[in-house]
Amino acid sequence: MANSKYEYVRLFEQPDNLLPQTWIVVRIDGRGFHKLSDKYGFEKPNDRRALDLMNAAAVSVMKDLPDLTIAYGVSDEYSFVFHPNCELFERRSAKLVTTIVSGFTAAYVYQWPKFFPDKPLQLSNLPTFDGRAVQYPNASILRDYMSWRQVDCHINNLYNTTFWSMVLIGGMTNVEAEKELQGTVSSDKNEILFSRFGINYNNEPEFFKKGSVVYRQYQLQEPEAVGTTTAHTQQDDEPISQLSRTQQEKIRKLRRKAQVVVEHVDIIKDDFWLRRPWLLSGKPGKIPVE
Ligand code: ATP
Ligand code: ATP
Ligand code: MG
Ligand code: MG
Repeated sequence: MANSKYEYVRLFEQPDNLLPQTWIVVRIDGRGFHKLSDKYGFEKPNDRRALDLMNAAAVSVMKDLPDLTIAYGVSDEYSFVFHPNCELFERRSAKLVTTIVSGFTAAYVYQWPKFFPDKPLQLSNLPTFDGRAVQYPNASILRDYMSWRQVDCHINNLYNTTFWSMVLIGGMTNVEAEKELQGTVSSDKNEILFSRFGINYNNEPEFFKKGSVVYRQYQLQEPEAVGTTTAHTQQDDEPISQLSRTQQEKIRKLRRKAQVVVEHVDIIKDDFWLRRPWLLSGKPGKIPVE
């Protein structure tokens, strides 16, 4: 071990380990994507290529980090969820956040040309992301967090769909459309979409209405097979950190084998969680037979 008189400066490094046995969510968000989306000509309100690219980057991160349980993305943001049992980097916040942010950014930039072949990235306008880690004390609150993001997706998408219809189809200016939408509720926007533009919001793509859920796929279970336990009260009987090394390694291997899928489904209701009990239990399920 090298030892020098400078070694003491280590004492200035503050520990930032997150609390044990809590859900950790790392949420990343594109920096200045409003401007960036203009610069690279994203289609409004929803550019499919940009969303597909976000999802491709999220899949890369999920594959790279088997400790991740699930991720949820909308617009220029993604939330990555670590199970309470996760011991990666001794749960050090900065390590977890920077690993996800840089892994995501690298995958996003690397795959950009695949999704925007005619729009090469410019050094003066590179996509970057910020990130933070938040802890949630139990599965019920974790689910409320996920629901919060999905409700936000719905609210923003309804607003954006209406706003951009008024501008792009209705010929209004941005200011006029914004003014008219001020103080309106959901039903007003649905009505504007339907009566003026013949758009039934319910028929808009699930991709835009629900956002994207990314997780490892195992055999789905019938909700009744799970019994009377509600999805959010299911607890793990033993923390993975207390399992032997070989058991931990086995779980990691099982996770690596599983297929990472992207879906646009409701994650607010119980059904999603009941049919995928491995998400909250942290224990891999059975690999589906092809
Ligand atoms: P900040 O740096 O504070 O996050 P921002 O400009 O990124 O600022 P956000 O609130 O994160 O602001 O909003 C992201 C914006 O990026 C959206 O409002 C939208 O204009 C644009 N955007 C992101 N994804 C898409 C997409 N797939 N299609 C069209 N526009 C998009
Ligand atoms: P961790 O993920 O924990 O940071 P690490 O493998 O990155 O693990 P570090 O302590 O960061 O370990 O050390 C970086 C290592 O990378 C060095 O020990 C060296 O082996 C290698 N390395 C970094 N830069 C160079 C370089 N320019 N030329 C050769 N080797 C390098
Ligand atoms: Mg942003
Ligand atoms: Mg955002």
